[in-house]
Amino acid sequence: MKKKNLKKVATQKVTENERFHIMAIWKYLFSVIVIIFAAIMFFGGSHLPEKKATASDWSENRLTIKENQAFQAFIESFETEFGQFRELALSKLAKLPDDEMRANLVMPFDLFETNRLNNPNRNIYSWIKKLQAENTAGRAEISDRRFFNYGVQGVDAWGQKMEQDFLASFTQATRTIYLKVGLKKSDLFGMLVFYHEMVHCLQDTSLRFSIDSDEKEKTYQEIIIGDKPTIIIDFELEAYFYELMLLDQLLDGQFSQGYKQSKPMSRTELGQKLNVLPTEQEFLRMLIKFGEYVFCDKQNIFYGELIDFYRQKDYRILTIENLEKFKFRQI
Ligand SMILES: [Zn+2]
Repeated sequence: MKKKNLKKVATQKVTENERFHIMAIWKYLFSVIVIIFAAIMFFGGSHLPEKKATASDWSENRLTIKENQAFQAFIESFETEFGQFRELALSKLAKLPDDEMRANLVMPFDLFETNRLNNPNRNIYSWIKKLQAENTAGRAEISDRRFFNYGVQGVDAWGQKMEQDFLASFTQATRTIYLKVGLKKSDLFGMLVFYHEMVHCLQDTSLRFSIDSDEKEKTYQEIIIGDKPTIIIDFELEAYFYELMLLDQLLDGQFSQGYKQSKPMSRTELGQKLNVLPTEQEFLRMLIKFGEYVFCDKQNIFYGELIDFYRQKDYRILTIENLEKFKFRQI
């Protein structure tokens, strides 16, 4: 039941195969593996609440104009890099026999391209500055639900520096994906994390499109704004699911096959295939662990670990009870 809701959120369509994966998430109970905690910090991104816009412009204490110009240049180079990664991924995904799964996995890439071609204000800092100059920094303008914006990891939408140690993250309030400046397509992990964050964008789009009453609007605002960062655990699991499915396709299905044949890829083998740097061994360990959860039907364990992880970081954790009715339950 929950799995069905979950699927609907990001994709609208559900295949038997996907449903199988999704249902499996709920089949078992929890166990904890400590390594995942540190690993998720880099792999999965965060969900930070955003402060409301204030009248103040950015100052010397904030992102400088020069830094923002450098960031603008980065956005352009990053889009070129990710565009090339996208071409590669789409050619791999074209071989997927499952139409529904393929369509679902392509959706974030379509979002990327739509945003690149149609969103001239995707630098969140320039966009907010422009809105502030026009005195129109309202939430609706900032967070056009068709698009997303780019920000720098560690600098919030209003240019203020903040603590952030995730490789990438998505903030619903302004629909901003924060990236590590310098990210290139050779950093496959970075590409996958960015893809993961775009899945969150699509989930947010679905939520926003389904708001058809004041009550739902209130619930939505409670989710995106608050003292504590809030995470919808079902969305998180779904984003990882797609991220790992994409990785598997990039490796021509060899990643999942290894698990199915009880011979999972070793760290060395996976590292070679992905051109992983020696400093990223921890990511590899995590990928192999996550792969086991997803491809060996241990999503229940994954679910439990994610909950523990976010609980330790003092997040408010919600699970979906009924998406149509916008019913969430805190866990
Ligand atoms: Zn996530």
